[in-house]
Amino acid sequence: MEILDAVVIGAGQAGLSASYHLKRRGIAHVVLDADPGPGGAWQHRWDSLTMDDVHGVAALPDSDSPAGATGRANTVVPAYFAAYEREHDLPVLRPVRVDRVTSEGDLLVVHAGDRTWTTRTLVNATGTWSQPYLPHNPGIETFRGEQLHTVGYPGPDHFRGQRVVVVGGGASAVQLLGEIAPVAADTLWVTRREPVWRTDDFTPEGGRAAVALVEDRVRRGLPPASVVSVTGLALRAQEREAERLGAYQRHPMFTAIEPDGVRMPGPPLDDGSRWAADVILWATGFRPAIAHLAPLHLRSEHGGIRLDGTTAVADPRVQLVGYGPSASTIGANRAGRVAARGVATHLAQAESIAS
Ligand code: FAD
Repeated sequence: MEILDAVVIGAGQAGLSASYHLKRRGIAHVVLDADPGPGGAWQHRWDSLTMDDVHGVAALPDSDSPAGATGRANTVVPAYFAAYEREHDLPVLRPVRVDRVTSEGDLLVVHAGDRTWTTRTLVNATGTWSQPYLPHNPGIETFRGEQLHTVGYPGPDHFRGQRVVVVGGGASAVQLLGEIAPVAADTLWVTRREPVWRTDDFTPEGGRAAVALVEDRVRRGLPPASVVSVTGLALRAQEREAERLGAYQRHPMFTAIEPDGVRMPGPPLDDGSRWAADVILWATGFRPAIAHLAPLHLRSEHGGIRLDGTTAVADPRVQLVGYGPSASTIGANRAGRVAARGVATHLAQAESIAS
């Protein structure tokens, strides 16, 4: 039986960065990726998301960033990742969807259908895209219109002439409203909390402070918050038309979903306190895609995985990258380097115990 020094699960920004650094250290590993082609979650982003819309995709280690590239993010970034995998000859196997990881003595066994890989350490880099989060709301099953999540956003034309409720207080809600409001019959934006608008220009110090807050959460074993939830929101030139149309007037969450709309808590909107809707678009974010790690019992009593750097405190054979504070392209890059160091440290310790 072949025993690998490391298995990386996921070939997005975080997994590729980890693989690059593992390779540089001469650590034998494979990268298992569920998608049909290179690009991580970027290959699934909606067609209208251009490189001008994204907040910037950081360069992978030892490479130039795709900054300055124009065109659709879901083709530019996958092409960039594909070239990177080739150039650095990274050992990516796909499509391989990992179902579970189990512990067998000192080793970890990674299962995907009837295939298994046995390894001394694991770097988990599975992102969030496959775990869209949809909060339960009373009456949700009674709605006769259409319900969509960001993950299946079909582009603005789909909403032409429709009355659309957009739910969620993050960057995706703001961007999608910017596209939908100019073509929809009307939009209603609802969020659980008052959105936090960024008033000053975004600074690197502000960004670092935001990441530090999320870092603190995972150090304490709390579920990670999204980095943007602490950096605040901003409108860009392409959202000015929606702003002029009043799309960014935020309303509190509806109290219930009804067959033809949503019941608002406050004073009359539309028909009494009901807002008639054809579509509800849930821009309610994602959760870490880590169900396959459940057999390792990594979760703390607070519901998150407690990390020291990128190392799981409950099982130091496991590194988590692209999780919590490293869930951005810059963070994922750095986490890949830290994780490779964590793997090397664990392997060295295990070897010194054995000898
Ligand atoms: P992903 O890119 O999601 O890659 C995870 C990989 O793991 C995938 O290839 C998937 O197939 C694989 N995988 C998942 N589960 C399994 C499994 N069980 N078995 C095997 N493989 C599996 N960040 C920025 O820095 N700049 C931006 O402009 C930006 N824009 C964003 C826009 C949107 C709409 C969203 C949702 C996020 C955005 N982010 C942005 C955040 C950014 O996407 C991530 O921080 C980063 O790209 C995630 O990289 P990753 O490697 O962690 O995950």
